[in-house]
Amino acid sequence: MTQLPFPLPILPSVLGTSAPQNAVTIRWLGTAGFEISAADTILLIDPYISRASFADCLLHPLESDLFEITRRTPRADAIFVGHTHFDHALDVPMIAKRTGAKVFGGTSAMNLCRGSLIAESKLINVERETGQAPYETDIGPFHIRFAPSAHSRFALGRVPFPGEIMDCDHVPMRTEKYRCGSVFRIEITVFGKTIVHLGSAELVERASPPNNIDLLLLCVAGWQSSERFPERVARALNPANVLLSHWDNFFKPLDQPAVMLPAMGVQKLCDRITSIATSSRVGAVPIFGEVTL
Ligand SMILES: [Zn+2]
Repeated sequence: MTQLPFPLPILPSVLGTSAPQNAVTIRWLGTAGFEISAADTILLIDPYISRASFADCLLHPLESDLFEITRRTPRADAIFVGHTHFDHALDVPMIAKRTGAKVFGGTSAMNLCRGSLIAESKLINVERETGQAPYETDIGPFHIRFAPSAHSRFALGRVPFPGEIMDCDHVPMRTEKYRCGSVFRIEITVFGKTIVHLGSAELVERASPPNNIDLLLLCVAGWQSSERFPERVARALNPANVLLSHWDNFFKPLDQPAVMLPAMGVQKLCDRITSIATSSRVGAVPIFGEVTL
C-alpha cells in the first residue's frame, strides 16, 4: 500500500464483518470526495476529480477534466453535494452528465447544475427551512438524511466565499464564484451500518446526529478554527471508525501520492478525538484507497 504522509495512521481496509452480499465499500477520491457502493448502487459525495492547479484557481475560470472524470468516476446513481465551494462541487455537473446520476444538494448546487444544463428531472433540492425536518430519501439499499451543518471559519475567522451560486451565474466560473451555499452533514444508513460525512470541519449539534456511527468521513482542513472541534465530534458522534479526509493538497493531480496541506495538526486532532472517544479507530487511506464495512 502507498505510504501516507507522516503522521497519518493507516485505517485497516476491513472495518466490519459483513457477509459479502452486504458489504459496503467506501473509496476516498481525495479532498472530501467519496464513492460509496453497496449491492449494485453507487453514491458519490463531493467528488472533486479535476484538481485544478493553484495557478488555474487564481487566473482562470475552472473547467472539469473530462478524461479524468471518465476514468475515475465512470458510474454513479446519485451525487450528494455537502456545499458548493469549487473543491466540492466543480465536477458535479460533468459527472452527472456523464453518468446520468441525480444530484442532491442545496439551492446553490441546483443553480450550478442548471447553469450547466443538467435536466431538471435530475435535480433534487434538499434544502429545508429552519425548524423543518431534514430531507430524507432512499436510493437502492441506502437511506440518506441531509442534516444542517456549517462550514469552518478558517479564513481569518470567516467562511471563505460565503453566499450562494446564483441562477444568473454562468459556467465556467472562477474560483471565487463557487460560493459556499448551504452546508449539509450527510448521514447514510445501509445494511444496518451508519456512515456520516462531514465535508467541512464544523459541527451543528442541534441537528441530532445518529447513534452507533460505524464510520465518520471527517474533514481535517480548518479544524483548528472550530472551537473544541475534536471534543465536540467525539462527544456528539462517538464514531467506531474515523476516516480522515480533506487533508491532502488538492492543487496536485490525483495520479501523484497525496501530500499533506500545511499546518493540518493531524496528530493533535487524532489524539484529542481518541482522548474522549476512547474506542474510536482514527486513520486515513491513500487516494483511491478503500475500506469496507
Ligand atoms: Zn469549503
